[in-house]
Amino acid sequence: MIPALAGRTAVVLTRWAHRHGTHAYLSTGCLHGEHDYCRALDGRVGTKTPSRCKFCPANCVCHCHQETPDA
Ligand SMILES: [Zn+2]
Ligand SMILES: [Zn+2]
Repeated sequence: MIPALAGRTAVVLTRWAHRHGTHAYLSTGCLHGEHDYCRALDGRVGTKTPSRCKFCPANCVCHCHQETPDA
């Protein structure tokens, strides 16, 4: 998928989800395959909470953030 299109789709989905009171959050970093970025404390525009929506407490659904109990 084209990164710019993926980002725009994510924004639309995020707005829709918040309007309906539910949010399956997926980091834009994850969408771009930048998992080091989505897990980092520092974003491109400042500090951020790793793997979490900046508009609500939803955690990123990307598999790269899931704990593996049997690891
Ligand atoms: Zn990720
Ligand atoms: Zn959210």
